[in-house]
Amino acid sequence: MSKPNGRGNRIALVAIASLLPVLFAACPKNGPPPRPRATISTSPRPADRSPVVAGFNGERAMDHVRKQIDFGPRPPDSPQLAKTRDYISSQLKSYGLNVSIDEFNVTTPLGEKKMANIVGEIPGETKTLILIASHYETKYYKDMHFVGANDPATSVATLLEIGRVLGSVKEKPKVTYRLVFFDGEEAFCEGWSDCGSEDDPDNTYGSRRYVAQLRERNELANTRALILLDMVGYKNLELGRDPMSTRWLQDIIWETGRELGHRKVFVDREEGVGGDDHEPFLREGVDAVDLIQLNSYPYWHKADDTIDKVSPKSMKIVGDTVLASLPKIVELLSKEQKE
Ligand SMILES: [Zn+2]
Repeated sequence: MSKPNGRGNRIALVAIASLLPVLFAACPKNGPPPRPRATISTSPRPADRSPVVAGFNGERAMDHVRKQIDFGPRPPDSPQLAKTRDYISSQLKSYGLNVSIDEFNVTTPLGEKKMANIVGEIPGETKTLILIASHYETKYYKDMHFVGANDPATSVATLLEIGRVLGSVKEKPKVTYRLVFFDGEEAFCEGWSDCGSEDDPDNTYGSRRYVAQLRERNELANTRALILLDMVGYKNLELGRDPMSTRWLQDIIWETGRELGHRKVFVDREEGVGGDDHEPFLREGVDAVDLIQLNSYPYWHKADDTIDKVSPKSMKIVGDTVLASLPKIVELLSKEQKE
């Protein structure tokens, strides 16, 4: 991700892009499905809402952070990232998820690079897809030993632990969950858009690849929500609202986080995010929310983004909140489908 640096036109572009689905809705042929209207109730759980799957363990997530950092800096097309990939996919398999790895080649400002996205799937009763995702590579630095404890080790760790909890449920979920680990989110040049172009940016390589595959497989219309995690483990965790994210989805997560007692974490201040892996999905009309602490994380893209800056407690807050939000998201989507 990048900090917004006045690239107003880019955000304006994204704003326009995010309006497209609404325009499509105005004259839908087979455009993106209508957006659910969020009605958050604090009353007891409605009968047709699935129970919340609890059990997120912050210490287990912290173990995943340590494991990644032990591999060292993990930029794309490196042996350290290959080890990380093996670790992630073996963990997902051990939780009973169907794991697939998609290898692909990209042209970057630093030449040809081999990349790979990892997907762990929990098949559901329906083909409706809810994606929960994080990038898993660290930003490439020639002269800095960058281990990315918070960016992205904590979001990878939180996603793995969510996978373990969801994988432990015997009943088939109503929807299909996919946990997606994107390669190549970070720019190879210093700044997010120092290199590349609008059509071929030097960032979000893995998420753009994944969206292209969803389109190819005609799965875009079934892809009803993306929950993106990025930098979610800072000891002083505070998550502002990313203005690019889809409001109904963001509202459910923010309301649920507060219901769980994390009012100081899920705040209303805006978290300007210049760009992240949810963008390619928003451009295709897929509803997406980015949970990210960027502007108030002083160690962003610095050598001291190290393990002493992150905490199991913060990852548990995010993990619990995402898990408790899923039944409400599923309920709203199924209500929409019935109408
Ligand atoms: Zn990141």
